[in-house]
Formats: sequence, C-alpha cells, structure tokens
Amino acid sequence: MTTIKFSDKQYACDTDETVLDCLSRHGVDIPSSCRSGVCQTCLMRATEGTPPQDSQQGLRPTLQQQGYFLACVCKPTQDLQVALPDDSAMPKVCAVVSEKTDLKEGIMRLRLKPESPIKYQPGQFINIHEQGISRSYSIASLADEGYIELHIEQVADGKMSTWLHNELAVGEQIIIDGPHGNCFYLNDKPQQNMLLIGTGTGLAPLWGIARDALAQGHTGEIHLYHGSRTTDKLYLVDELKALADAHSNFFYTPCLSGSDVPEGFSAGRANEVALKAQEKLSQWRVFLCGHPTMVAETKKKAFLAGASFQEILADPFEFASQ
Ligand SMILES: Cc1cc2nc3c(=O)[nH]c(=O)nc-3n(C[C@H](O)[C@H](O)[C@H](O)COP(=O)(O)OP(=O)(O)OC[C@H]3O[C@@H](n4cnc5c(N)ncnc54)[C@H](O)[C@@H]3O)c2cc1C
Repeated sequence: MTTIKFSDKQYACDTDETVLDCLSRHGVDIPSSCRSGVCQTCLMRATEGTPPQDSQQGLRPTLQQQGYFLACVCKPTQDLQVALPDDSAMPKVCAVVSEKTDLKEGIMRLRLKPESPIKYQPGQFINIHEQGISRSYSIASLADEGYIELHIEQVADGKMSTWLHNELAVGEQIIIDGPHGNCFYLNDKPQQNMLLIGTGTGLAPLWGIARDALAQGHTGEIHLYHGSRTTDKLYLVDELKALADAHSNFFYTPCLSGSDVPEGFSAGRANEVALKAQEKLSQWRVFLCGHPTMVAETKKKAFLAGASFQEILADPFEFASQ
C-alpha cells in the first residue's frame, strides 16, 4: 500500500491499484478517456516521488524528466505527491474548422486551423475536448500543409463522432490539445523497409506517415495495407493508387474481409494479407493503426515474424470509457 497526495489531501492506494483508480475511488475527478495508457488524457505530474517507468511510456523525454506520467497505468511503488499538468505543459488551444468533406459514407475529413501553431509529426494524435468529453483523433496531414487533417468515422451512438459529423460546422471553433503519441516516421533509417497496416480510419495516421516518409526521401520499400469489410469504408483508394504510381518504392494493397471482393482488391483481413505477403520482418519497421484487437494481435505476429518490438509503432484506437 502506498500514499497518494493530491491537492493537500492524502489517499491510500492499494497494491496493484492505479493512481487514477485510487483517486476515482476516493471521489476525486481526474480527466481520463481510454484508461489504457494510449490517449494521454489522464496525464499527471509527480511533484514528489518517482513514478514507475512504464507509466511514462510514450511521453516525450522532456515530460518524463519532469515527472509526468499516465495515471491510468501508474501503479505506484512508492508514495507520490501528484498534480494535474500545468497549462504550460499541455496547453489546450482553440482551432477553427476550415473544412469538412465526406470521404466515404460515414467517414469525413475534418481540417482544423489552430489559433496558435501546433508543431506535430504526421501520425501523432490530438485530443478534442467538447460536449464535456474528450476523444483522440490521429493526424493525417503533413506538418507544412497549414492545417491539421483528421479522418473521423461516425460510430453508432457515438457521442463525439456524431456531434462532429452532424453538429459542428465550418467556421466554428473547437478546443484541442496535443500533439501526443510516438507513432510517426523517423528518417533515421531511410533504406529500411516499412510495413503499414490500418483498418477503418486507422488509415489517417498511415496516410500522414507514408507521405511524410516519401517527402523526406525514404528509399526503402513502403507497403501499405488498408482493410475494411466492404468497399463502403475503404477511402482514399484513388489517391493511394496515384501515390503508388508516382513512387516506385510505395505499394498499396486495399483489402476486403467481406464476401464481395471486386477485382483490384485483396481478399481477407488487412493484417492477414500483409503478414502472408511479408513473412520475414526482421530489420523492418512496422506501423499498426486502428481497431485495438487487430493492433494487439498483429503486434505479436509481427514480432514473431522477426520485427523487433522497438520497431513496431502502434496506434490502437481504444474506445473511451465515458
Ligand atoms: C490514440 C487514438 C487515436 C484515434 N484516432 C482516431 C481517428 O483518427 N479517427 C477516428 O475515427 N477515431 C479515432 N479514434 C477513436 C476516437 O477517439 C473515438 O473513440 C471514436 O470517435 C468514438 O467516439 P464517440 O464519442 O463517437 O463514441 P463513444 O460515445 O465513445 O462510444 C459509443 C459506443 O460505440 C462503441 N465504440 C466506440 N468506438 C467504436 C469503434 N471504432 N468501433 C466499434 N464500436 C465503437 C463504444 O464502446 C460505445 O459502446 C482514436 C482513438 C485513440 C485512442
């Protein structure tokens, strides 16, 4: 058992209990969303004591050094005095909606212009704070395109996605923070082969990452597999084919897991088609984005196919718990 000090009060934290669960159990309301160490909504700072290293995974080294950690995965091994991040660490900013376009039925492109510039890498994500909740969305735009582009699928009964699709209008402002995450292109190994697998709007970060790599002169092969059950949800097909025509090292495979598979599409789930085609992944870098189950399963399989864990970058689209 450890003690958590927060806002001049002390709380007993059970063995194996996270800081977030401990504070929630005592009626302390901490912003949170995915509760699995992905969205970073529950970012906190240890002002006394050292948080366990695994609660700092995915945070920028500068934040780790200052004692920042994710409360939802932080099981303290010593007493901690904790605080919510101050505004200068993770500022929320206003962003104006500059464009809303349908990419396919139920999937839209949202372009935002933040009031003050946000420096990001394509493939990272931002959080949108509206309607009393917050949700994460991956960045599909390149850093110099002058806007932040998101691809948002409308989820049945989804609070945020329905509001973004049906209520939010061009010209209106929303509150965002970010960028977060470490799923982005690094030009440290320009000759390395890369495997990109995404389902649904998991294409958003991959669209950013692939174009970023090509713009930075990546010479290794880049294989992108995008999957859906039916063609209704496969979007940017023509744009990706055009990208493959323009770059001899970029390969695009649209995959359909349903029974109707027209010519030009591969039959099967994107991760299965990809791993069948690329059986040996040692020395490869792998990007996995979209449905959490697909990401978790493929992470293991990519590792067994030879990719090192450090070379597997993932953005599981975990569902929020509130
Ligand atoms: C790091 C990260 C990046 C993300 N990037 C994107 C992105 O680029 N584009 C995007 O569209 N989404 C993305 N998401 C998912 C997004 O944050 C929301 O979870 C999603 O938009 C649903 O939110 P909602 O408020 O509309 O639905 P909620 O009100 O949270 O959920 C309504 C119901 O739908 C279920 N549900 C939620 N999402 C799904 C789903 N995908 N499939 C099936 N059932 C679901 C919930 O369990 C719940 O029962 C990302 C998530 C994370 C963690």
